[in-house]
Amino acid sequence: MLITHDMGVIAETCDRVAVMYAGRIAEIGPVHQVINQPAHPYTAGLMAAIPDMAVDREQLYQIDGAMPRLNAIPRGCAFNPRCPRVFERCRIERPELMDAGATQAACWLHAAGAPAAAAAQGALA
Ligand code: SF4
Repeated sequence: MLITHDMGVIAETCDRVAVMYAGRIAEIGPVHQVINQPAHPYTAGLMAAIPDMAVDREQLYQIDGAMPRLNAIPRGCAFNPRCPRVFERCRIERPELMDAGATQAACWLHAAGAPAAAAAQGALA
């Protein structure tokens, strides 16, 4: 098992990856799928934050907000104050891992009854 923040190292050395947020698994699955078709908005944000040398940008992407303190984790989905896809259910109920294509994600976007636009979009890459 390898624990790192470096997705490049993960891509080169691992077959499966678990992306953690606030002490819980946000997404888990085959490395190729998680990196190329992230199903959790936090994973998508991490991937978007990786600099691309082929793209000329003034500013690097970063996920808004900050990681919560472990003694003050938000109700519902722990990522909800920072999530660009948040909707009402996210602020009330904590999602468990659920099937999200080739991976599993702890995200209500992949539950039955998710907002139509979210469900139609599928992977978040
Ligand atoms: S459950 Fe809601 S707040 Fe949490 S990652 Fe999914 S869309 Fe965002």
